Amino acid sequence: MTQSYAFIGLGHLGGHLAASLLRNGFAVTVFDRDAAAMERLVSLGATAAKNPAEAAACAGNAITCLPSPKISEAVLAGPGGLLEGLPKGGAWIEMSTNGRDEIVRLAALAEAKGLETLECPVTGGVHLAAVGKITALVGGDAALYERHRPAIEAMCEKSFLMGPLGSAAVIKVITNMLAFIHLVAAGEALMLARKGGLDLAQAYHAIVASSGNSFVHETESQLVLNGSYDIGFTMDLALKDLGFAQKMAQETGVPLDLAGRVAAIFQQGKAAYGGSAWSTMIVKLLEDAVGTDLRAPGFLAKLEA
Ligand code: NAD
Repeated sequence: MTQSYAFIGLGHLGGHLAASLLRNGFAVTVFDRDAAAMERLVSLGATAAKNPAEAAACAGNAITCLPSPKISEAVLAGPGGLLEGLPKGGAWIEMSTNGRDEIVRLAALAEAKGLETLECPVTGGVHLAAVGKITALVGGDAALYERHRPAIEAMCEKSFLMGPLGSAAVIKVITNMLAFIHLVAAGEALMLARKGGLDLAQAYHAIVASSGNSFVHETESQLVLNGSYDIGFTMDLALKDLGFAQKMAQETGVPLDLAGRVAAIFQQGKAAYGGSAWSTMIVKLLEDAVGTDLRAPGFLAKLEA
């Protein structure tokens, strides 16, 4: 029998994840506070609900992909939230990025109502989500993971069960911290290349084939060189994730010199361009400071998988 899911949060990432479920034959009931986002999914075959509770009651299991733990809590436990609609034995699969403390606390609210929680943050970017090839980092009970693996595999090419609930949050925060450090580093590298008189396109390709390469350079540097900066991920989300990393560092006594510096740079980026600016615009901060842009011909405005 085809499993059925409620999907709440149909933004830059969630819209693609829900579309992947539909493409793979799952029945999906959607809710988003943005009517246009819901309409896009309805046009792909989803059923619209009037709130998270109705979507969850209709589907029996619910997935969320929301911008902050505060909003996840409201959608889970607020009026008209998932806890009002999910039947006993139903599962909540949280695909938003949270810190460990946040997901553990929210899962306890669900457990008190007899509901199981699987955390399933993803990594790789919206271009991979668009074709079902993003990576899932899973935390929670192994049997629950197995039960929902068909849906996870419909949305994600690879999935890693990291351990009990909270462990996926830890690795997700770590990998994003690395990505933001790499992004700032890639911007500094490209600026040195330009100021050093190199052809920027040639410098990009040489770095891809060198020991200084990174996933972020391969992907996001292209958006910098194009000038679109359009990664589908915002400054606010970057600052949220860097905040989780710094909180973890404080709790565990690990000095994060680089992450602290990069968080300060993202604060500057938010002050300059706003929290909803693409996170890749952090490189524009350097371009503006130096008064030199990093454009080069032959790079796409949006990443393709
Ligand atoms: P987004 O802001 O584009 O989408 C969030 C969606 O949630 C929006 O459609 C918004 O209308 C909806 N929403 C907000 N409050 C709501 C509410 N109370 N009820 C119902 N809907 C509500 O964010 P995104 O980029 O899709 O990111 C979502 C989550 O995924 C975040 O936790 C982010 O950290 C994580 N993430 C994003 C990416 C990415 O590349 N964009 C990659 C990995 C992880």
